[in-house]
Amino acid sequence: MSKKHSMLILPGDGIGPEAMVEVKKIVAWLEEHKSLEFDISEDSVGGAAYDQYGTSLADHTLEKAKEVDAVMFGAVGGPKWDGVDYDKRPEAGLLKLRKELNLFANLRPALCFDPLVDASSLKPELVSGLDIMILRELTGGVYFGEPRGITELSNGQRRGVNTQVYETYEIHRAAHVAFDLAGKRSGRVTSVEKANVMESGLLWREEVNIIAKDYPNIKLDHMYADNCAMQLVRTPKQFDVILTDNLFGDMLSDIAAMLTGSLGMLPSASLGEVGKGALYEPVHGSAPDIAGQGIANPIATILSFAMALRYTYNEGDAADLIEEAVNDVLANDIRTADINQPGMTLVSTSEMGNHIVDAMQKLES
Ligand code: NAD
Repeated sequence: MSKKHSMLILPGDGIGPEAMVEVKKIVAWLEEHKSLEFDISEDSVGGAAYDQYGTSLADHTLEKAKEVDAVMFGAVGGPKWDGVDYDKRPEAGLLKLRKELNLFANLRPALCFDPLVDASSLKPELVSGLDIMILRELTGGVYFGEPRGITELSNGQRRGVNTQVYETYEIHRAAHVAFDLAGKRSGRVTSVEKANVMESGLLWREEVNIIAKDYPNIKLDHMYADNCAMQLVRTPKQFDVILTDNLFGDMLSDIAAMLTGSLGMLPSASLGEVGKGALYEPVHGSAPDIAGQGIANPIATILSFAMALRYTYNEGDAADLIEEAVNDVLANDIRTADINQPGMTLVSTSEMGNHIVDAMQKLES
């Protein structure tokens, strides 16, 4: 008997729960029509957990997150909790989850659906068919390195310090994820750093070269981060998997995001050691300005679930089906408000979910 896919759903706050309802419709469809089996639990996180448990991530929720194959996360935060102590704030729950699950690899695909090529800031021919994966190292580098801080100098000046630091094991484990991913895609990795001016960048390059020897079928290139930023807006389709550190990844993934248009379309994954932690979430936040109105775009959350199918559950066919269904719906000019254009059919969050399920059904029959 095949193993059930265990999943903890944490819808969170704002539009998180609204979008997650649409994921559950897809889960139900997959169970009924594709014989996939899920073992699903659900709990509060963020502001909702603060209201329910007095903290944004309860201990029992964290334990469950460690047990399951994958966590599906909505979004957290909102003005209701602005006055809450920092360590209990909604965002603290997400940070704790990432830290406790040791999620060191952040995956942000930049996938351009053809019907949305006009939403890109680049010319359609540059982004049509675009499919890049950015792997950002998430738990090391300059955001965490010591020493750090601001000191007063005796001459009256102030000095701000942050330290870019990477150790071999951090580079190796991120590189393994990148090469494994490339093996499931077009087989190319571009490793990005500033080896020309930073010792940590030189170490990064040398250590990635060592790991590359384990993957003879993957083509590895190296690129300086400033050049990569330029190439991303010049000829983005040259890339398959971009492997980079925390700081450069932060910036390059935001550049890549804008190649494909709206925040409501962007999924992400954060992975720990294989089989020991995976969290899938849309890039967007809880959007309190539109929460409760039924107008949020659920596609980023739905595509995050597709990533879970592909990268945690090894159900690539089901992931392909969801992505094809999203493309079909968009090709039929069906749009939520954030991606709407004159002459198209404006639908609600729930209607968008229904259209995607219908498209899956049609593609399968
Ligand atoms: P946001 O991503 O929530 O919203 C930015 C803008 O994009 C808003 O105008 C919103 O309406 C729109 N938008 C976002 N997602 C959309 C969707 N799916 N469909 C349609 N429109 C969408 O960012 P923000 O406004 O800076 O933050 C709001 C709250 O979310 C804050 O409390 C912030 O801390 C939190 N936040 C949480 C996460 C997370 O949970 N991972 C990430 C970012 C922000």
